Amino acid sequence: MSLRNRRLFNCRSCGHNMRLGATECGSCYQPAPQINRLPLPLLLGLPLAALVAVAMWASAH
Ligand SMILES: [Zn+2]
Repeated sequence: MSLRNRRLFNCRSCGHNMRLGATECGSCYQPAPQINRLPLPLLLGLPLAALVAVAMWASAH
């Protein structure tokens, strides 16, 4: 397991490491978990968006 490996999620059926954004397992073609279907920029962007929202709220009050 490497941190540089972006295949974060494993298939629930066969344990295959799925590519991020894939809608199905590349090995057994079972449907992927919903979280694996989100694009990586979105996963990384959500905490950033929350920080920006807090900063904007703080500057407005
Ligand atoms: Zn699989």
